[in-house]
Amino acid sequence: MQTLPAARWSCHGCGACCREFRLGPVEPEVVAALTSAGAATLAGCEDWVVREPGPGGEVGWFLRHRDGACVFLLPDNRCVIHAELGAEAKPGFCQEFPFRRLRDPNGEILMIRASCAGFHASSVTGEPLAEQIVAFSTLPRLGPPAVFAPDAVAILPGAGVGLADWMRLEGALLRRWQQVDAGVQEPEDTARQLMIAATDALGRTLPAGRYRLAADAVREGMRLVVNAAITQESGETEAWQRSLVRDVLRILDANGERRPLAVDARRYLHLLLGQALLGKQVVAAGSLAALFGRFVFELDLVRTSPGEGPVDAASASAVLVPWLRFSENPMVTAMLRRAAPALVELASG
Ligand code: SF4
Repeated sequence: MQTLPAARWSCHGCGACCREFRLGPVEPEVVAALTSAGAATLAGCEDWVVREPGPGGEVGWFLRHRDGACVFLLPDNRCVIHAELGAEAKPGFCQEFPFRRLRDPNGEILMIRASCAGFHASSVTGEPLAEQIVAFSTLPRLGPPAVFAPDAVAILPGAGVGLADWMRLEGALLRRWQQVDAGVQEPEDTARQLMIAATDALGRTLPAGRYRLAADAVREGMRLVVNAAITQESGETEAWQRSLVRDVLRILDANGERRPLAVDARRYLHLLLGQALLGKQVVAAGSLAALFGRFVFELDLVRTSPGEGPVDAASASAVLVPWLRFSENPMVTAMLRRAAPALVELASG
């Protein structure tokens, strides 16, 4: 199993994964087993699980939130199912989070989801991910890996390469990424250098981008999505969802002076770029240019965040954790796909 070189992660016990997400879908057999084991007593309520549509529209079981947290989360951030019934009694997504397993033509890949707050907090000091492969492989309940096997991968919108060529190109880009002095080079420059290497391989040249215009256009488009989400809020909207949407609006509105990055922030953002590439986020982005453009846009959110002096890694993650969680929403993904022309300009420099 392959991991991103230099990737690290340790659980900080923050409990954010049991608060700031939709908690499901839970496997029907787990719902049945927990019901028999007295989940209602552990949760202190009968309606600890509800059937509702998931992000893709399919109906499934989801754990309830109470006061902004999973009904099974104890005040000290421990899980009462884990404490009383053992780790293997928990739903599969609880056991697997924040790991993400992928299969591509070269084998399996183990990643940490960037939406995990601990990933950001432990990206420098955490346990090497490569040393956690055995522990992950022996988790009691593992879902099937996501499979990466598209016929073709777009480098620019409408222009791409077949799967075998993509795997060679991805390997070459990751080797270049690894050779960068991450504490020195600006992460935008790394993304653009990789983009130039990819378009060279495609026999194309990139036009010069209009950075400020493109960044403001994406920012405005995202404000529309956030305001639409606020308009659609109802009595069903959970407190954590309202809070996430307002955090993202604050991030989008904070369009101040662009600040430099501190060395630890450069290293952290460099890691996020490599993770996006190895994690095949090119598929969700629609093209490699859109993926790198989105990364440059996220750097713009970090650099224009309120404060003085260089942005350090902790401040960068304070911007990116809510943004990355919010952008997992299908409405946001769809909007980012429509913003592809502006994202390509951001990737072009
Ligand atoms: S069941 Fe336990 S691990 Fe899963 S979200 Fe609830 S508190 Fe967290």
